[in-house]
Amino acid sequence: MKLTAGMALPRRKTSEKLLMGPGPSNVSARVLSALGEPIIGHLDADFLDIMTETKELLQYVFQTENELTLALPGTGSAGMEAAWANTVLPGDKVIVCVHGVFGQRMTDVASRYGAEVIKVESPMGKPIDPEMLAAAIKANPDAKIVGIVHAETSTGVLQPMDEIAKLTHDAGMFLLVDCVTSLGGVEVPVDKLAFDMTYSGTQKCLNCPPGLAPMTVSKPMADWIRARQIPVKNWYLDLNMIMRYWGEDRFYHHTAPINMIYALNEALRIILEEGIEKRWERHWANARRFWGALEAMGMKLVVEEKYRLPSLTTYYTPDGVNEAAVRNYLMDKYKIEIGGGLGELKGKIHRVGLMGVNSDPARMALFIAALGDALKAQGCKCDVNAALDIING
Ligand code: PLP
Repeated sequence: MKLTAGMALPRRKTSEKLLMGPGPSNVSARVLSALGEPIIGHLDADFLDIMTETKELLQYVFQTENELTLALPGTGSAGMEAAWANTVLPGDKVIVCVHGVFGQRMTDVASRYGAEVIKVESPMGKPIDPEMLAAAIKANPDAKIVGIVHAETSTGVLQPMDEIAKLTHDAGMFLLVDCVTSLGGVEVPVDKLAFDMTYSGTQKCLNCPPGLAPMTVSKPMADWIRARQIPVKNWYLDLNMIMRYWGEDRFYHHTAPINMIYALNEALRIILEEGIEKRWERHWANARRFWGALEAMGMKLVVEEKYRLPSLTTYYTPDGVNEAAVRNYLMDKYKIEIGGGLGELKGKIHRVGLMGVNSDPARMALFIAALGDALKAQGCKCDVNAALDIING
């Protein structure tokens, strides 16, 4: 269509879909309505109040008393970029644990800021073995930071963090953690395990549209950033300036994405109303039933149960089944979105998110019935009733 002046285009509408992929997840009407509240100035006293409250709510969801807790403009990747941009000086040695695509991405980001990256790797679908990290620390006692993904969205692994945190701190290094797919769904033990730099995204277990990167920084890490002599190489994500905008003096750095902050504020209030511990329990209980249901249908799950991530489940698609055709069928017939594999798992697995509002037995049952139908269309019969019995308890 050729656009000409004076044309009135019909309003674009999208229809509601069930977003059970790796994100974005569905957003409640309350959050969408907060997004549509009237815009006000980014230094307006009312907006500053909303920022302050949003910071307190983020401290609650992160379970931290870190003073430097805020939401950066940009998606989860802005959090990853800011985490490395602020903490690395050219030539610094850092250790990055890679157990999937997002850990691999961390190595790329850190090296772009001049870090010498030492990789600790494990195969996709397995967590990082703390003994391998211990060996890397021993061989590189001059490394400054250990970076790791808590919830690997490319595989569905929830990385146990106790030993990783202990090894890092015993060696006097900073711990940098990606919790994009864990925050708001499973516990992110920021203060308990003294994470130094932690970031997330809004569109997963927080059930908010994509567009902000919640972040929290420990006091030792924040002091280090304040004292660094070489300016942060990324002006937009320089925490030394941004912390002043979120702090006492409200120094202008960038125009806050005002309506996105309203939305995040509302999404976090919903979490407070449920209670963060109850929310974690709900995610665990529903995920266990979901895993049982998939197994009852004959699916082989990618990750060993003790390392499975409740907010994102991965299973191998049965032999002879075209996994992309199943996803298309689910979308065309049921308006259900799920994800395919990334990296070496591409074409072999499905990734299904049970994030926030979608960690719900009714939605899980709908997905299981739809998946059974989609597999049947591919000539693969499964016991859907046995699976539904598990979901219905
Ligand atoms: N880190 C992890 C673990 C992720 O799952 C994602 C996105 O899925 C990102 C980082 C990047 O976040 P975004 O796509 O919001 O920029």
